[in-house]
Amino acid sequence: MTDQQRLVRKDFDELTALLKDVFISNGTSALVADILSTNCAGCERDGALSHGIFRMPGYVASLKTGWVDGQAEPGVEAVSPSFIRIDARNGFAQPALAAAAGAIDEAIERTGVVVVAIRNSHHFSALWPDVEPFARRGLVAISFVNGLANVVPHGGHTAVFGTNPIAFAMPIAEGDPIVVDQATSVMANGEVRLHALVNRPLPPDAGVDSSGAATTDPHAVLDGGALNTFGGYKGSSIALMVELLAGALTGGQLSFENDFGHCVGAQTPKAGQLLIIIDPDRGSSTCFSQRAAMLCKQLIDAGQERLPGERRYKNRKAAQTLGIPLEHEALANLRHLATRSPTLAP
Ligand code: NDP
Repeated sequence: MTDQQRLVRKDFDELTALLKDVFISNGTSALVADILSTNCAGCERDGALSHGIFRMPGYVASLKTGWVDGQAEPGVEAVSPSFIRIDARNGFAQPALAAAAGAIDEAIERTGVVVVAIRNSHHFSALWPDVEPFARRGLVAISFVNGLANVVPHGGHTAVFGTNPIAFAMPIAEGDPIVVDQATSVMANGEVRLHALVNRPLPPDAGVDSSGAATTDPHAVLDGGALNTFGGYKGSSIALMVELLAGALTGGQLSFENDFGHCVGAQTPKAGQLLIIIDPDRGSSTCFSQRAAMLCKQLIDAGQERLPGERRYKNRKAAQTLGIPLEHEALANLRHLATRSPTLAP
């Protein structure tokens, strides 16, 4: 079968509208549906496929089992001029961040820096959608998220850490921001699941099976096994720091404390997220974004193939003219998920 027969192309707004229907049909408020559908469609459009539409059944399972509250109204508290605490009240992390937008802007304006600590929250997506918009406004944004224990510490045999992603976004003069967004495990758990779907082996040193023995079998990693951290003991130490910043400093749960309990099938880890947003021009009289652009040029001149974030921006541009490629079957599954569940109140 050719790609043309297998694939259908949808524009960003069409896909977002369909995903919004899925969220609303499965119990979220319209506002939460707006935020999550834009996030998920953006991942699919940018080719961040480990957090695109493939995640929708996981969102739905978490909502249907009552594990996450799709109607939660976050509580935002400015505890100092530059420290905002948010209780997501068992809702998703992205609407919690959105609820603090005004308080964040005020803190940046007044002090040039803000720490945002989100607890009692579920983060199930990529981090770049959280940080890239700040860099587009000339700000530096850094984020840390912990998750569900599925990563072994260096030299260990039992999962303690989540895949604990970190993201950094920096403004670049006359260009797209640099966005580094990565798991602190060898790869994201979503990548392991994508490998499992097509029975593709993982890279060497990716993980361990349920007995703690090294494996490249994605099924063994998912079935009681775990991933390794990236970069040996150094990556393991970074994962530890993410765990403390996102899980402990925020007042959230540590990854190993997650327990789905009676919510069988739920998939969104309940954890924490820490963001630090900085106005870089408070640090120097020389324009930061111009200095950053100069450094990026130096990297490319030195032979670096591309900058972090560039792959996504290319996909985004292509999707603007060609549409977002989706498999017919995936689209049919989304339409099915958008049909109102009989287990939910009308
Ligand atoms: P990747 O290893 O694919 O990419 C990590 C970063 O490196 C990206 O910024 C990427 O840019 C950049 N990059 C990749 N290749 C190159 C290259 N050749 N030259 C320069 N830069 C490069 O990411 P991961 O698999 O570690 O993570 C995937 C996603 O999973 C992330 O978005 C992360 O936030 C998410 N995640 C979410 C979790 C959660 O609990 N919510 C848990 C774990 C992960 P580019 O994007 O342009 O390719």
